[in-house]
Amino acid sequence: MQGFAYQTAPMRVIFGVGTLSQLPGELARLGISRALVLATANQAARASYIAAMLGDRAAGFFAEAAMHTPVDVTDRAMARVRELKVDGIVAIGGGSTTGLGKAIALRTDLPQIVVPTSYAGSEMTPILGETRDGLKTTQSSPKILPETVIYDVNLTMTMPPQLAATSGLNAIAHAVEALYARDRNPIISLMAQEGIKNLAQALPKIKSDAGDIEARSEALYGAWLCGSCLGAVGMALHHKLCHTLGGTFNLPHAETHAVILPHAVAYNASAEPQAMAEIARALGADDAAAGLFELGGKLGIRRSLGEIGMRKQDIDQAADLAVKNPYWNPRPIERDAIRELITRAWDGKAPVDDVKAQAGGVSA
Ligand code: NAD
Repeated sequence: MQGFAYQTAPMRVIFGVGTLSQLPGELARLGISRALVLATANQAARASYIAAMLGDRAAGFFAEAAMHTPVDVTDRAMARVRELKVDGIVAIGGGSTTGLGKAIALRTDLPQIVVPTSYAGSEMTPILGETRDGLKTTQSSPKILPETVIYDVNLTMTMPPQLAATSGLNAIAHAVEALYARDRNPIISLMAQEGIKNLAQALPKIKSDAGDIEARSEALYGAWLCGSCLGAVGMALHHKLCHTLGGTFNLPHAETHAVILPHAVAYNASAEPQAMAEIARALGADDAAAGLFELGGKLGIRRSLGEIGMRKQDIDQAADLAVKNPYWNPRPIERDAIRELITRAWDGKAPVDDVKAQAGGVSA
């Protein structure tokens, strides 16, 4: 067996149906007596309800969280933190809300409780991406990692099946890249396979019955495992491409992941046959890339970058940006092959492992 390093994150995780009721106790555990409850505008009613439920333990709520953590929003939230003499953060929502909580924690080192309502996985990482003047920069710090995460399946029931599908594929992407990460380790690889399996089984059930609480539980459990992978090992081509496309062309986060994933996997297939076999097995498919593409089809998601808002004339710029700053990937990053990948993703075509194709194994 190959040697490895494994480190666990110092955080507490509560999982179940109705676990939000444990929030007051968890606040007390962290010594928080004046929490600021965060949400997006979409979930403002939920934040206000939770602030009311907390009574004296909540100092107020701030429901302006936005995608990619713009610093002007954080500045406004920081003013509320000072004005209300806040001593802890409760972030209720998807990755955007978690991002705002992390941005406040980075500036104040206040303790955070995150209550995720999507499958983005940000709650499990010490990473924060912030946007200033349209430019997104990412940093990592122990201050950013939330102290406590409460997964309550009930809060995910309001996610429309379409959002559950793309958010779930976003989560699967973390586990997929963990399986071929340079710093992979056997524990995280087990979590990755279990995460992919749970989500791949649950998402089609959610599509056919949005009220299926067992399937929603399975999906949230899978999302937790996938988020743990993102927090534990390094990512590669897929995450880099999605970061570039999302940041530069303002594409929706989860949908971009959902479109790109089969193509990034096909790109790396020849370099990582063992990881591909693990991904395929977890999906219950014969081939990793084709299995992911078919899962997207079964879930009825949009499978083309064109459909989710990217202009065809931006493909060259995207390919240039994707190869600009070198980063690790199992297969070397080659501009022409990346351009081909983005073009296929733009067209919504099935993924192609072009190394295999050149060898005559697959027809494009
Ligand atoms: P999001 O938080 O913007 O949520 C998308 C929309 O869905 C929002 O309008 C939100 O209010 C709504 N929503 C969320 N949960 C819902 C629910 N249960 N019911 C109804 N509506 C609901 O998007 P996201 O995909 O969760 O997160 C994306 C953001 O997270 C991006 O900014 C991304 O960069 C960041 N992210 C960061 C990390 C990290 O480790 N730093 C990891 C993953 C994602």
